[in-house]
Amino acid sequence: MLISFRLMVFGLLILSASCARNPVTGKKEFAVMSEQQEIALGANSNPQIIAEFGEYNDQKIQAFIDEKGQQMAKISHRPNLPFHFKVLDSDVVNAFALPGGYVYFTRGIMAHFNNEAEFAGVLGHEIGHVTARHGVSQQSQNILVQLGLIVGMVAVPELAQFGNELSQGAGLLMLKFGRDDESQSDKLGVEYSTKIGYDAREMAGFFKTISRLSGGPEGRVPTFLSTHPDPLDRNKKVGEMAEAEQKKTNNYNLSVNRDGYLRMIDGISYGPDPQQGYVESGVFYHPQFKFQFPVPSDWRLQNSPQQVQMAPKDGKAMVVFALAQQQNLREAANAAIAQDSFKLLNQQNVTVNGYPAIAMTAEQLNRQTGKTIRALIYVIQADSYIYKFYGLSLSTDFQNYEMLFQNTFRGFRELRDPNRINVFVERVRVKDVNRAGTLADYLRSQGVPDKRLEEHAILNGMEQTEQVNLGMLIKVIEKGTGTN
Ligand SMILES: [Zn+2]
Repeated sequence: MLISFRLMVFGLLILSASCARNPVTGKKEFAVMSEQQEIALGANSNPQIIAEFGEYNDQKIQAFIDEKGQQMAKISHRPNLPFHFKVLDSDVVNAFALPGGYVYFTRGIMAHFNNEAEFAGVLGHEIGHVTARHGVSQQSQNILVQLGLIVGMVAVPELAQFGNELSQGAGLLMLKFGRDDESQSDKLGVEYSTKIGYDAREMAGFFKTISRLSGGPEGRVPTFLSTHPDPLDRNKKVGEMAEAEQKKTNNYNLSVNRDGYLRMIDGISYGPDPQQGYVESGVFYHPQFKFQFPVPSDWRLQNSPQQVQMAPKDGKAMVVFALAQQQNLREAANAAIAQDSFKLLNQQNVTVNGYPAIAMTAEQLNRQTGKTIRALIYVIQADSYIYKFYGLSLSTDFQNYEMLFQNTFRGFRELRDPNRINVFVERVRVKDVNRAGTLADYLRSQGVPDKRLEEHAILNGMEQTEQVNLGMLIKVIEKGTGTN
């Protein structure tokens, strides 16, 4: 299961202030964190990031990002900082860095690069955020914490707060950098990638892909450039910087390595992975765990490895679904109440489609606002797993939602339909072009439907009308089969 992130909460880091020299500019600056604090911050957030997204299960790609990352870290402004590089199992096109040397790329962005030089430019950009200590200096004391919650659309603050507590420290530290920081990182991306031998003009080219994706299907919009509304402007600037850097260092013998990169990512997952859960015709299916439950009509759902959350459009209620960690139903029920200092109103043993369950109603008083949340809670034992459902609203709204919560929770059942179970993530296959023509012609010859031609063109960093030649490598999205 996996969440996407909507709610943004500003938290203030209260740390001892100190003066330090910036590793990149050499200027003295007021830093709110020591290097040790910075490393600790990244190290503490790293397990949460991994838990939230999952690591992408491909040793070859993980080894590649680590090798290139470590190589670049050595020639950066902070060669002694221990860096960590990971590819996350998310289809969103994104890359980001945490203070202290933690750098993440999604499988979504890895699928969209078309050569090593593009990758290296973005790698340099992210390493640049770390080496220039973006996010740890005075200007950015307000650290943006994005919680893995749907409650960006939850209108009731008490519910949002409750959701935060439920995810127990799953508050993810994600820094939102300012325009100046982004420009500086672009510059460092050019510098670092040139230094390890890549043509940084390719990094500029990748902004075109970003620009095309921004107008593309929902969920693919990359956020790593979100503070820059115009990637095409960056395309131009980075292109100029790349040429200036090559002139300055008198380095023209630079690598792009298109074929090597494409062969390396051959078979990479593409788009959402339905094995981790998907919604179809108002039902949430989870093939891996083999269960299903109805999604109230017009509610939105977000799925993460840790929990599923749902909320109606008016934002006045929320459903949270997660695995319970306890050994038996009774313990799980007690923990669900105790964990968030609920007051139990009533409790009964029930059966949900053959599974033993405990249904409870409970209340929680928010001391700050004096408002009361009411919850319908179900814990359900389905074979060796115990699941818990929370249906939450203000107690004053509860009667509007109680039936709907109940219908949803009582609709939980085993997923048996093989047609719903045997659905697999699509994969990018890298193919040798066997006859010259336009990209669109070739894609059609590979069975790509017309409505997905533009998507393929973006994925290949080309136009549909562009010429492809014999032996050229082209990415084609193919249906998943459950095996690599
Ligand atoms: Zn950035």
